[in-house]
Amino acid sequence: MSGLYRDSGVVLRTFKLRESDRIVVIHTAENGKVRAVAKGVRKTRSKFGARLEPMSHVRLLLYRGRELDIVTQTEAIDSLAPMLSSLDRASQGLAVLEAVDQLSLEREPNPQLYRMTVGVLRTIAERPSPVNVPAFYWKLLANEGVRPQLDVCVRCGSGPSADGGAGAFLVAFDPAEGGALCRDHRSGQSISPAALELMRDILDGRLVQALASEESPTTHEVAALATRALEFHIERRLKAVAMFEAH
Ligand SMILES: [Zn+2]
Repeated sequence: MSGLYRDSGVVLRTFKLRESDRIVVIHTAENGKVRAVAKGVRKTRSKFGARLEPMSHVRLLLYRGRELDIVTQTEAIDSLAPMLSSLDRASQGLAVLEAVDQLSLEREPNPQLYRMTVGVLRTIAERPSPVNVPAFYWKLLANEGVRPQLDVCVRCGSGPSADGGAGAFLVAFDPAEGGALCRDHRSGQSISPAALELMRDILDGRLVQALASEESPTTHEVAALATRALEFHIERRLKAVAMFEAH
C-alpha cells in the first residue's frame, strides 16, 4: 500500500501540526479525499513549489503513509491570486470548498466532483456571478442523484394546465419531497415563478444564461433554496450512514 503516487487536487482545508508542519485535506482527481502532512510548509522558505492553501489547485507527489500521507512535491495548476483578489471571490470559493468537503469521502474516488470543483473555481476566478455557488450546489445535488423535480408537482405529478398560468402553478419547494409543489400539496418554502425559471436554466443546460443574472431577490431566493436543499441532503446522508453503522 505504501509508496509514491501522483495526483491532482484542490486543497479544502489546512491545519497546523507542530511548529512548521501542516495537515492538508485535499479532494483529489483519483483518490477522493486525502489527508496529508506537508512538512516545513510554514517555514518562510518552504521547499514546496506551490502554496498549499484552501482553494489551491495543485499537482502533487505524495507518499502513502500508514495514517497520513506525506506531500513531497507540489506544482500549481491554477493561480490562487484571482481567488484572493476580492472578498466576493474568496467567500464564493470557500462556500464551494465547504460543500465539497461535506460530499468528498476519504479514499473514495469521485473524479466528477473534482472536475466540477475545478470548473466552478475557474468560473469564480473569471467572474463572481451571484449564481455561481447556487448553480454549483444544484449541480452537485443532481450529481448525487437528487436532481429536483421542477416541471410538475412532485406529489401529484400534475403540470400547468393548457389554459396558461404555468408560472403560478407550482408555488412551493420542499427538499424533503424532492422538488416543487402545487397549491394543493404545498410544503416547505414558497417559491417564485422567477426562481423556478432560474433553477430550470441552471439544471437544463442554460448555465451561461443563468450565470449572467444580475444580483436580485430571485438570485437570493435560488441561493437560499440551494443551501437548504444541500444541507437537507447532507443531513439525510449522515443519518443513513449512522443507521448503517448502528447495525
Ligand atoms: Zn400537487
